[in-house]
Amino acid sequence: MKHYDLIILGAGASGLMCAAQLRQNSSLSVGIIEGNNRPALKLKASGGGKCNLTNVEVDESHYLGDETLVKSALAVFTQRQLLDYFRDGGLRPVIRKERYYFCPKSSDEVISILIGKANGCDLLLGHKILSVEGKSPFVITTDKGKFSAKNVVVATGGASYKELGASDIGLRIAQSYGIKTVPFSPALVGLTLQPKEFWMKELSGISFPARIHVAGKSLDEDLLFAHRGISGLVVLSASLYWHRGEIVIDFVPDFDLNTLKYEKKSISTAIPLPKRFMKAFLDAVGLEDKACNRLNADEWEKLLRIRNYAMAPSGTFGLSKAEACRGGVACEEINPSTMESTKIDGLYFIGETVDVTGELGGYNFQWAFSSAVMCASSITL
Ligand SMILES: Cc1cc2nc3c(=O)[nH]c(=O)nc-3n(C[C@H](O)[C@H](O)[C@H](O)COP(=O)(O)OP(=O)(O)OC[C@H]3O[C@@H](n4cnc5c(N)ncnc54)[C@H](O)[C@@H]3O)c2cc1C
Repeated sequence: MKHYDLIILGAGASGLMCAAQLRQNSSLSVGIIEGNNRPALKLKASGGGKCNLTNVEVDESHYLGDETLVKSALAVFTQRQLLDYFRDGGLRPVIRKERYYFCPKSSDEVISILIGKANGCDLLLGHKILSVEGKSPFVITTDKGKFSAKNVVVATGGASYKELGASDIGLRIAQSYGIKTVPFSPALVGLTLQPKEFWMKELSGISFPARIHVAGKSLDEDLLFAHRGISGLVVLSASLYWHRGEIVIDFVPDFDLNTLKYEKKSISTAIPLPKRFMKAFLDAVGLEDKACNRLNADEWEKLLRIRNYAMAPSGTFGLSKAEACRGGVACEEINPSTMESTKIDGLYFIGETVDVTGELGGYNFQWAFSSAVMCASSITL
């Protein structure tokens, strides 16, 4: 059985970053075990193949999870440090919509930088991890054999997008050591509709900027109508905070409805939204498409629903379509300065395996990389 000082489980975003950091700053022997035949398949597919690395505005308010833990990791490896790190490797991130940092060409650029910096670690591909047992040394059993290590970093990610190699092994490993976990559930995912909102299904393919109010948060981005329900960047971010109950959609966040009071044009002409949407919306709220200046008080009330359309989604598009997972190893089980288990010495959890989830917009890679750097720094000290 081959022995390492440290074994990282999972060669995704956080696992590769942790390996790269250890390689640069220590002489420990490091093995990385990955189920796929290629590393970082989720990272490769991310951001439409161009990986949204981080955001212009990063702080703990964009995450669900323990504030102290998130804040502590983000301080160890800030968004500036992340950008400098990849720039140093030759990447020239581009900003989209004045907030999102993307790769200019392809996510492969990020993957090759990480693999280059992790050079010297043993990358064991095509090994499905089955279990971890014992304590310093830990024994890792895969479908191809057993390995032992003094320290283990669990970086096996969340359970969404199984076709990219995702699994819940991180939670099962934690549970086998009596560490508390929160079940994985879909986040950053489209929302399905109750029958009374089925009028939206007819609008599949239409997209425009909207604002969603959910659980005390107000989020602005594009809304996309889909066959199964509503999607688009604003819905994906809203899904992070939605559990059950209502969300409120403002379909015209940048339009002053007061300007319509003296408007002679019909409602659907005066409001700058796609005609198909306007027609379906007016039908749904039972309002005739008449001249705006001829609306009575009752009709105004109905029109105002375009600004505060309250609806209760029936569910989500599910784990197979979710860009991230809520849930993971409970934050209270993790040392907020090291990412080490507070119960088991030498056992660490990083990235999406931990119960921390970011909004859409590069926040999840920022967390994956920051938690990995914090973990690696604590091991090399
Ligand atoms: C389609 C899509 C697009 C996304 N786009 C973005 C984006 O643009 N920006 C952003 O910030 N976030 C994005 N995300 C989220 C982001 O990819 C994840 O949050 C991030 O990859 C988590 O990093 P991680 O290291 O924790 O897990 P991962 O990157 O998922 O790595 C986990 C690794 O562990 C391996 N593994 C799992 N189980 C086993 C097992 N039993 N045996 C062996 N190996 C195993 C997996 O194969 C994988 O390689 C996207 C996600 C998806 C699905």
